[in-house]
Amino acid sequence: MKLSKKNIALQAEKLLEKLYPDAECSLTYETPLQLLIATRLSAQCTDKRVNIVTKDLFSKYKSVYDFKEAKEEDIADCIKSCGLYKTKARDIKLMAEKIISDYEGQVPDTLEKLLTLPGVGRKTANLIMGDVYGKPAVVTDTHCIRISGRLGLTENTDPKKVEFDLLKLLTPETSSDFCHRIVLFGREYCRARNPLCFNCPLKEICKENKNGKKTVR
Ligand code: SF4
Repeated sequence: MKLSKKNIALQAEKLLEKLYPDAECSLTYETPLQLLIATRLSAQCTDKRVNIVTKDLFSKYKSVYDFKEAKEEDIADCIKSCGLYKTKARDIKLMAEKIISDYEGQVPDTLEKLLTLPGVGRKTANLIMGDVYGKPAVVTDTHCIRISGRLGLTENTDPKKVEFDLLKLLTPETSSDFCHRIVLFGREYCRARNPLCFNCPLKEICKENKNGKKTVR
């Protein structure tokens, strides 16, 4: 029997929750600002590296006012090993200035306002919405886009379109958790190359597996 997209999504949510009940963001942070900065640093860098760098960065600069007052070169110096450090340092400083000038020093809690911050795209904004403010959010990273397509939840590959497709299918209260879980699932089973379809807990609901496009070993 052909499952509807909604049905596949519901079953995938249940199965992934069972597999990864405690899935959460792998970036280390204590405040909304810290998650915002850590996420900006994570572009083209591993979360592990970001966590090493932010340990020192956040002990040196504790508040949004500290980042505003900091010299761009000093921030750049602290984050050098994350790559693209000059652009990232500039964004962090501009971000702090905007949060103070437009949002009374608080990281905003709507997608629209978050997207006005320098260096913040939909992926970062959704991460803040889901993880910090507990609101419905879909973070479409490379794992989410690949696996959503394979499962048959979307025909799109553009991150924004995938986000909108998933928003219609996922349970709003847990959509953010689903995105953390799908990253772990992508690393363990549904890898970009050689996915482990033969042993996959989602193979019964996976469109690509049923179509025989993937090798079931
Ligand atoms: Fe991915 Fe294969 Fe599992 Fe489908 S069956 S979700 S393609 S690992």
